[in-house]
Amino acid sequence: KADLRATLLEINKVAAQYFYVQLKSEQGKIGYTYLKNRELSDETIKAFGLGYSNKYSNDLFQYLRKKGYSEDLIRQAGLINTDEKNGVYDKFWNRVMFPIMDVNNRVIGFGGRVMGDGKPKYLNSPETAIFDKSRNLYGLNRARTSRKPYFLLCEGYMDVISLHQAGFTNAVASLGTALTTGHASLIKRYVQEVYLTYDSDEAGTKAALRAVPILKDAGISARVIRMDPYKDPDEFIKNLGAEEFEKRIGNARNGFLFSLEILARDYDMDSPEGKTAFFKEAAKRLISFEDELERNNYVEAVAKAYKVSPESLQKLVTKTAVTAG
Ligand code: ATP
Ligand code: MN
Ligand code: MN
Ligand code: MN
Repeated sequence: KADLRATLLEINKVAAQYFYVQLKSEQGKIGYTYLKNRELSDETIKAFGLGYSNKYSNDLFQYLRKKGYSEDLIRQAGLINTDEKNGVYDKFWNRVMFPIMDVNNRVIGFGGRVMGDGKPKYLNSPETAIFDKSRNLYGLNRARTSRKPYFLLCEGYMDVISLHQAGFTNAVASLGTALTTGHASLIKRYVQEVYLTYDSDEAGTKAALRAVPILKDAGISARVIRMDPYKDPDEFIKNLGAEEFEKRIGNARNGFLFSLEILARDYDMDSPEGKTAFFKEAAKRLISFEDELERNNYVEAVAKAYKVSPESLQKLVTKTAVTAG
């Protein structure tokens, strides 16, 4: 079992080196140009070990076979598919490749991005004996040595890489999956605070709403960074630069208050009925703060933000707590 894991890690490492060499070859020019157009420096490409998987091929499969790895092991590494029509073929072809590393810099899987608008935009390694998506974070191998007391948690590989290139070496991303409790406990080993920098679209907003309580339950405080008018941190940095991003970090909203802001969208805040209904729901959420001082501080903050007297909100919260028993 340990042997299998070691072999799969070895195969992935060889594959990552292969992709990296391809990127610098004539065939890989298209991939290299793509990454350059996305404003990645050679230094960044090297630091993240980015590569290219060849077009129309089972090049990688042949290469790994020549190196002596069996078809079965290459399959267990998640690098090939088989079907009746095509036989054995590389899972990744004509994509720019992002090796995914664990905290010890071992390659545990890959993400591959199509160049242009093909589908799926990103293809990721399947879960294997060495690749557990809910227990690993992209960029953590580098972010773990950052001196900042918090992580920037974003959605995608390109977000992480752009942020690191711009000097924000504390950026990490989950691997195309929602944040799990496994991710949260992994984060907790390094920092007690997370700044969520998810995409500004509906999906990103929802993902942030779900991440806040998961982080809180793990004892990590969450803040939310606004990316608008841009789609994600990668685009933000490219358009407004690192200094503006730094300002957004400074203006990040408290995770709980962010959740209430999104909640408020569902209520007619201009009518007394709407506002009352909103406060009833807010009170339900406020009672989840078990620490009295913390809860009181939140009551005050909410009262101030939504212009109601702290005393009346406090009364509502107390009443709600009693009713909830
Ligand atoms: P880009 O900037 O290259 O267009 P992105 O990171 O902004 O990419 P999103 O669509 O925001 O792309 O997706 C965020 C992350 O979600 C990706 O980095 C990838 O890990 C994952 N992802 C996106 N599309 C898919 C897909 N079709 N299948 C699996 N994972 C995906
Ligand atoms: Mn997205
Ligand atoms: Mn993007
Ligand atoms: Mn995005």
